[in-house]
Amino acid sequence: MGKLFGSSGVRGLANVDLTPILACKVAIAVAMHANARRAVVARDTRVSGEMLEDALVSGLVSVGTDVLRLGMIPTPVLAYVAKALGADVGFMLTASHNPPQYNGIKVFNADLSYIDEDQDAVEKIVTQRLLVLADWRNLGKASSADAGQIYLDMAQKAVSLKKAWNVVVDPGCGAAFDIAPKMLRALGCKVTALNAQPDGFFPARKSEPTAESLQDLAKTVKALGADVGIAFDGDADRVAFVDENGVFVNFDRSLAAYGALALKRNGGGTIVTNVEASMCIETMAEKYCGKVVRTRVGDIYVSEAIKRDGAVFGGEPCGAWVHPQLHLCPDGPLSAALFLEALEEARKSVSEFIGEVPEYITMRENIACKNEQKYEIVEKLVNVLKAEFPEYNDFSMVDGVRLSLKKGWLLVRASGTEPLIRLTVEGESQAAAKDITQKATELIHKQIEAQ
Ligand code: MG
Repeated sequence: MGKLFGSSGVRGLANVDLTPILACKVAIAVAMHANARRAVVARDTRVSGEMLEDALVSGLVSVGTDVLRLGMIPTPVLAYVAKALGADVGFMLTASHNPPQYNGIKVFNADLSYIDEDQDAVEKIVTQRLLVLADWRNLGKASSADAGQIYLDMAQKAVSLKKAWNVVVDPGCGAAFDIAPKMLRALGCKVTALNAQPDGFFPARKSEPTAESLQDLAKTVKALGADVGIAFDGDADRVAFVDENGVFVNFDRSLAAYGALALKRNGGGTIVTNVEASMCIETMAEKYCGKVVRTRVGDIYVSEAIKRDGAVFGGEPCGAWVHPQLHLCPDGPLSAALFLEALEEARKSVSEFIGEVPEYITMRENIACKNEQKYEIVEKLVNVLKAEFPEYNDFSMVDGVRLSLKKGWLLVRASGTEPLIRLTVEGESQAAAKDITQKATELIHKQIEAQ
């Protein structure tokens, strides 16, 4: 499997990359690294979830850690409850939006997922076989608990809705199947639930929410004359919306609209997003004297920057939104409720609220490049791009190379998994985006040829 941890924890094909044997070792290593006395464990609805959970629990008990099993709940519920109960460590079994044959282990320190340093330490314990088990008299104890109510109590305190919103919610047979409809009903919404039975084969739709995978939701919103459609990915750390006309809402624009409202409420401040997000976030933030901080791609980096900079809000344009006033894990159900509250505050329908955000043009190119060369080429492109786009007004190497230009921006990154260099461009207009894309593509090709 190569490096054990990726940007979202340990992830791979169940029983091929991620076996119960590995899960058990990871649990032991994490518990040893954190010197954990108490752990909480939860999973999404995947078929391999229970098998891997049993392995995690065995590992934890074997080193003397007490474990609370929280059952099938979303990742943000696990993260929130881990913090609320004062657990030393939390484990979420999920492969997020990936297909059903995958699974993964995401590890939390309180409500913040594991940073690189912790991951390296755990990896060392696993690979160097430094696992030390407890004496039989000192084994941990495992028990079960219903965590849902703790989370629902938080949501009901955090959000208050005046209107009985007519919502259609689509958990996609994933981890939010129970808690999302429950939460929205508790907040006074009229809820119609689609695909709200737990099913680890994800038979109804792909677990990644996209315009294509949410067609049934869009049709239902229209047919019922509902106010909004709400959907989540497999572990519900991401939220997606369909407006009252049955139109899928662009992720960048919903992030920008909500971010602007968070800044307005706060009278300015900082919001955080990643290097790939649209510049419409800056456009909206400027209206309320807000500052935008950009991080590497990966929700853990966004959460870390929010904590570091005391930001009022942050998120990635895949629907992962973080509300730091409550906790630091991206939270789909909570984002949905806060989004409704924001609509009430703005006195707007979904399409009106999103309509405030300008629509820019994004273009993407994947350029073939050998794995052993791609990082070096991206590094060499730094000076080339600076020289060829001398009008740039901001430059960042937080993830690849990113240049802000007068009428747009460009980002060049080496793919983490494939022999590719990825170019992302955004322009104020079609013409601006096309100009930047053409010029940058040529420069990348030239650099590859020169290598
Ligand atoms: Mg997810």
